[in-house]
Amino acid sequence: MQTFDVVVLGSGASALAAAVTAHGHGAQRVGVFEKADVVGGTSAMSGGMVWIPCNHHMDEAGMGDSRAEALRYLEALSHDKIPRDLAEVYVDVGPEMVRWFEANTPVTFEIVEDFPDYHPEHPGGSTAGGRSLECPLFGFGELGEWADRVSQSRQMGRHVLMNETTLGRGATTIIDRDVLRQREEDDLRGCGQALIGRLLKACLDRGIEPHTNRAATGLVITDGRVTGVRFGPADADVVEARNAVILATGGFEWNQDLIRAFIRGPLQRAVSIETNTGDGLKMAMRAGASLGNMQEAWWVPVIDVPGADGRPLAWMVNRERIQPRCIMVNKAGKRFANEAANYNAFGAAFHQLDPGSFEYMNLPAHMVFDHEYLVRSGLFRYRGEGPVPEWLTAADTLAELADKAGIDGLQLEETVARWNAQVADLDDPDFGRGRSINDTHWGDGTRTAAATLGPIDTGPYYTVAVRPGALGTKGGPQTNADAQVLDLDGQVIEGLYAAGNVMASAMGMTYGGAGGTLGPGMVFGFAAGRHAAEHRGVGLPGSA
Ligand SMILES: Cc1cc2nc3c(=O)[nH]c(=O)nc-3n(C[C@H](O)[C@H](O)[C@H](O)COP(=O)(O)OP(=O)(O)OC[C@H]3O[C@@H](n4cnc5c(N)ncnc54)[C@H](O)[C@@H]3O)c2cc1C
Repeated sequence: MQTFDVVVLGSGASALAAAVTAHGHGAQRVGVFEKADVVGGTSAMSGGMVWIPCNHHMDEAGMGDSRAEALRYLEALSHDKIPRDLAEVYVDVGPEMVRWFEANTPVTFEIVEDFPDYHPEHPGGSTAGGRSLECPLFGFGELGEWADRVSQSRQMGRHVLMNETTLGRGATTIIDRDVLRQREEDDLRGCGQALIGRLLKACLDRGIEPHTNRAATGLVITDGRVTGVRFGPADADVVEARNAVILATGGFEWNQDLIRAFIRGPLQRAVSIETNTGDGLKMAMRAGASLGNMQEAWWVPVIDVPGADGRPLAWMVNRERIQPRCIMVNKAGKRFANEAANYNAFGAAFHQLDPGSFEYMNLPAHMVFDHEYLVRSGLFRYRGEGPVPEWLTAADTLAELADKAGIDGLQLEETVARWNAQVADLDDPDFGRGRSINDTHWGDGTRTAAATLGPIDTGPYYTVAVRPGALGTKGGPQTNADAQVLDLDGQVIEGLYAAGNVMASAMGMTYGGAGGTLGPGMVFGFAAGRHAAEHRGVGLPGSA
């Protein structure tokens, strides 16, 4: 039987952070086991940003932040769903985690410039940014044969830096073609690829080779303590974990039964890696864990488009729905929210149930925009030239458009007329769109209210259905400050830890800022790895 000090399940950012930290704190034998045939999980497919209040890069840049302000912010967003003790751990350990990785591994971070928090005007929120960090470009050549064994996004496109994208407010349009070509030749990658590439390099440097195609199926529990992991149905395939097992198996967004059982409303599309089927959650449940935050996901509005590989693709409309000359309406033809609100918070709008009709009022929602929108912003690479793609509905008039899409036509005309009248004054008294720095940041780059407000007046007109998607679920076993899993009585289940989307998120229903999911994933991965390394199993040789 293979024996490890610490066994980590999964290979996303939470898992690899836990593995490297465990090794760096004294665990000599660390095993990383991954269900997929590639490593990196959703994390490698992501923007790779981490949201860490009070990080030292802010100090160096002369940007003020404080523990009190960060906690005030989380408290303001909590609606009593964020446990105070975990919020404190997050704010306290986050900066420590960043420093430790920079001092001990190839993982380094820099500020994504000017990226405000997602609710910047809330008490304690940051309007100037600084809390969102990303890794510099990383040369995948350093990974040797592992370079081709990292998960890739079907949505993210080129691996530039977040600082160079329109989201990070950088210079996408002016990155020199030769520079891009050179980067491709050198296999230099940014975003989630850079984060996972660096974490993976840190593992490999320490002799930790992840085991792929190894789906854990159960925990071995001896006298109430987790002592190993089972793979496959047979008891023969077991690895021993002398100190601990760290669950970092992502959420359960690809498991319809678990979604039906727990999630608060429709979750119609998952955009994460398809192997996230709640395996870690089930293991924790069988071990007697108490669960928390089970109704929640990291929500994201998506549209259905065809993928390059022929499979349908759920395309996130995080920036697209915010551009001028575009609104969202329900089938009654009415706007129902500030379209520029943060994507996670927007999920709530999809779950509004009308008590009378007992229908979800805003499901599906419809993005409605004009031809000029397509010319200026484009949508899923379509800029209004050539035949209208199948996934988009077009018409010369709003009435005809509404008819084709099943929207109330008279109301849609009225809604658009009202919208056009109010944006002429560069204001949205109905939903306050354009008043937050968040709205103008994600707009067309002009950074005034006009960055998101503009008339819908130049036909043809277009619409596409928008559905509630998720980056991942965020409920699971409850943990303490060291990421140890707790049982139904609040007692530690010895030898079991959880980090990332598998755990009951310390963020409740909140997404604090860019990096708001990977930040907690890495912080609790770090906490888990450190504690697991330093606490030997009771009764085992060398136990403390
Ligand atoms: C396009 C996109 C952009 C995003 N950008 C950002 C961003 O910039 N910042 C941010 O904070 N968040 C971002 N997110 C969300 C973020 O990527 C996820 O929330 C995060 O990666 C979850 O990390 P994790 O470690 O918990 O899980 P994952 O990275 O999904 O890793 C879980 C791993 O566990 C493995 N696994 C599952 N079951 C088993 C098993 N039984 N045995 C072994 N292994 C198993 C899975 O195969 C998977 O590899 C983005 C998401 C997407 C899709």
